[in-house]
Amino acid sequence: MSTRLVILDRDGVINVDSDAFIRCGAQWQAIDGSLEAIALLVRHGFTVAVASNQSGLARGHFDLAALTDIHDTMVAAVEAAGGRIDRIVFCPHGPGEGCDCRKPAPGLLLQLAAHYAVSLQDIPFIGDSLRDLAAARSVGARGILVRSGKGRVTEAALEGSVAEVEVFDDLLEATQRLVAEHQQQGVSS
Ligand SMILES: [Mg+2]
Ligand SMILES: [Zn+2]
Repeated sequence: MSTRLVILDRDGVINVDSDAFIRCGAQWQAIDGSLEAIALLVRHGFTVAVASNQSGLARGHFDLAALTDIHDTMVAAVEAAGGRIDRIVFCPHGPGEGCDCRKPAPGLLLQLAAHYAVSLQDIPFIGDSLRDLAAARSVGARGILVRSGKGRVTEAALEGSVAEVEVFDDLLEATQRLVAEHQQQGVSS
């Protein structure tokens, strides 16, 4: 069976975002329902990966050890809820560095595609910012917006845009849709 991949942004999707940056594991706080959402995906056979801009590294707000601590905290919380994060990729660069991985650049998504040896075509990428949606669009992935984090601001910015974007209140609502689609496909095939 091929990998059924779902890619998630981190800040504002899985955990509460902070303009002051999440700087250590103790500051990491799950958004209501996000842990259950990941568990739901895993229970239905999806592989969950995370693709996250972490310019706080380049800005000197935290170091790699602190980011590892944050991710250990996240992974432990997800696993305690019965879920699993299979892989985390992040961009450590700042906005001015011209890297190919800071979203909206597609580098992080391409890293995941290479790792799993899958096409990104129609792979769900769930995020809360225009950068996430743009990264998804640039590789033919299925960009999904959630209203948590910066999502409501992003939704307002999309108003009147020609591109249709799927919008859900939060990660749990988005994943419930993905699971329901998967179940319908299972019935019809
Ligand atoms: Mg975000
Ligand atoms: Zn980068």
